[in-house]
Amino acid sequence: MSALPLPWHEDAWASLNSSIDSGRLPHAVLISGDQGIGKLRLATALAQRLICSAEMVKYACGTCKTCNLFSAGSHPDITYLEPEEKGKAIKIDPVRKLCESLSKTAQQGGWKVAIIAPAEAMNINAANALLKNLEEPQSKTLLILVSHRPSRLSATIRSRCQKLSMPTPEADIALQWLTDVTNDRIAAEQVLPLAGGRPLLALDYLQSDNLEQRRQFETLVAEVADGSLSPLVAAQQCQKLDGEQSIDWFSRYIHRLATTELADKPNTALFGFSDKLLLARNWILSGNNPNPQMLWEELFMDWVMVFKARR
Ligand SMILES: [Zn+2]
Repeated sequence: MSALPLPWHEDAWASLNSSIDSGRLPHAVLISGDQGIGKLRLATALAQRLICSAEMVKYACGTCKTCNLFSAGSHPDITYLEPEEKGKAIKIDPVRKLCESLSKTAQQGGWKVAIIAPAEAMNINAANALLKNLEEPQSKTLLILVSHRPSRLSATIRSRCQKLSMPTPEADIALQWLTDVTNDRIAAEQVLPLAGGRPLLALDYLQSDNLEQRRQFETLVAEVADGSLSPLVAAQQCQKLDGEQSIDWFSRYIHRLATTELADKPNTALFGFSDKLLLARNWILSGNNPNPQMLWEELFMDWVMVFKARR
């Protein structure tokens, strides 16, 4: 099996291929872009393309010995580094270990590739440990940093990487891909806008109960707005949710509202509220562990006011 880039990766893939063919591939690449557009998939395809032992190919062949090792997840020269738990930091020890293994000769005699995703999850010590490696790169090693929020990486790290910024694909390309993968055009049409046009996130919604959770959350938000559910009760129901994700849903809900139902009735309070959501999101991401009950109560009370002003 070979990991293939996605249709909207074509330009990036062509430029990576020409770098490989001309021996100008940098030691570190930073692939950035929205979550859910397949950055990790591109990184994986690149890693496999490098270790594949077939010659003169545009993609990994998927059948050679190294490709088979890769597909079995047991290729010794490709390392993935992710947080131990979703949302947690990547700490210094695994980064040190990674740098150590990158400094040794490849076991299969070819390239060594390390993929760190998401790179912004590295804490300061981990990032500093990595920086040393970036300053003294070995030949035939590639470090791929995958990042949804590259601005959270230090400027020094960013400056040591070749940047590959991936756009969210055009709507028709995304829809076609999702339809091909799911064989269900109607579902694809429904879910893509919910996922902000991000095809892999949309697929994730379709394959998990995430979509149902999101619908429930949107119902709750609508009920708070029309006064049928109190902010306090709503806040209790939101305590166990993933804060960052729910706020993302909330923001997209508002965006949809502002561009559809309320498109002819601009509501400035709605934009003010969007700013509050951003603040809440930053607060959650800051790791200061805000009290979720209080956070949601405040948000929902403000949310009610957005509509009170209009009634
Ligand atoms: Zn191969």
